[in-house]
Amino acid sequence: MSALPLLKGEMMFPSLALLFAALPVAKGSPVPHTSGRDKVLLVSFDGFRWDYDQDVDTPNLDAMAAEGVKAQYMTPAFITLTSPCHFTLLTGKYMENHGVIHNMCFNTSTGVKLPYYSTQGIDSWWDNGSLPIWITAQRQGLKTGSIHFPGTKAKYQGEEVSMKLVEPPLFNYSNETIWRQNIDTAMEWFTVNNLDFITLYFGEPDSTGHKYGPESTQRRNMVGQVDKTIGYLRQRIRESGLESNLNLIITSDHGMETVIKSNEIYLRNVENFTFSDIQFELLDYGPNGLLIPKEGKLEHVYSVLKNAHPKLHVYKKEEFPKRFHYANHPRITPLLMYGDPGYVIHGRYKVQFNAGEHGFDNEAMNMKTIFRAVGPAFKQGLLVEPFESVNVYALLCELLGIAPEPHDGSLEVTRPMLRSSAPLLAAIKLPVTLGIALILSCGRGVY
Ligand SMILES: [Zn+2]
Repeated sequence: MSALPLLKGEMMFPSLALLFAALPVAKGSPVPHTSGRDKVLLVSFDGFRWDYDQDVDTPNLDAMAAEGVKAQYMTPAFITLTSPCHFTLLTGKYMENHGVIHNMCFNTSTGVKLPYYSTQGIDSWWDNGSLPIWITAQRQGLKTGSIHFPGTKAKYQGEEVSMKLVEPPLFNYSNETIWRQNIDTAMEWFTVNNLDFITLYFGEPDSTGHKYGPESTQRRNMVGQVDKTIGYLRQRIRESGLESNLNLIITSDHGMETVIKSNEIYLRNVENFTFSDIQFELLDYGPNGLLIPKEGKLEHVYSVLKNAHPKLHVYKKEEFPKRFHYANHPRITPLLMYGDPGYVIHGRYKVQFNAGEHGFDNEAMNMKTIFRAVGPAFKQGLLVEPFESVNVYALLCELLGIAPEPHDGSLEVTRPMLRSSAPLLAAIKLPVTLGIALILSCGRGVY
């Protein structure tokens, strides 16, 4: 059963795909991958807000929508930060279920806090009970690679992405020449090394959005550069002979909000609040904050912060709104807080000067992001309703023909994007009665 070829341009009926993929996946017995399997390239342009194509000419994004699928927007999981949101794409889980709850790795006992770049290399921060799709795919016989995608550097249960490029320190995220080199590398990995799945990350337009704000000319110019790069990527896909067997998904982690510089939230100035009551703090990171009050001080700290500022929301861990799927994890501190759109949280000193920021409520429209897909598996010229980013993982597993790990999404959400699966039964010459029996017995996938 494992050698059943997927014919080019044809999708398995999803339930069947899961069944077929699941059959041979007894642990420890990798499946040799089928040569007819379509490849998948998952591209993320960090901080690409859902509406960034509405005030800039984006002929290449427009062409992709006309030839494939475009979601009106995609809702990221909360917390709308880079590493947590990318790990949701890779696992299909909300943050409280995958544990990568912040860009910064921290230890509440020692007080150690590591910045984004250093955190990429801390295995224990990432390898926290959830397997990213690279490892799952490799265990099922596929070959995977990753370029700069958050989470790439870490080992998971001792395993890592087989081919990887990791950003050097002090990396220039906006260098268009490096962007093209990375695209060329991905094409080489697909064609020379015959990889099945690659994730490719670009740090823009996030950096420019932070520095100049989402409504700036600089951001619009950067979106133009992103669009040109998408044109280059699709040209290289054609030149590499991959157009008919590569499914391309372009998405992002979160949007971007203009920072409001008046009536700021400044904890140091809150009446009756003192940092001498605090044992551990993770503050000055956009609109988010984590706090551990000293023993016996929780109620006091909570009561003085709760109504300290009309734009500040402070919760005890167990009372944090369930819709965020964020607080129910051991790494979340007894108190946590976030600011309304536009309001960042300043702690002891003012160290945040960005014009744009993210990390806000994922229901705020400016936190929504993009989802586009084109390739043999996808319908053409289809605009779909908004959906949550936890659902991308199940789609990736379906496209790759692998059995997913437990996750929080559903393939039902993205199924309408896929071309008809009707030719499948004929294509694999299953007796129709058996095919129908399989379909009936599989039913809806529940993960
Ligand atoms: Zn950012």
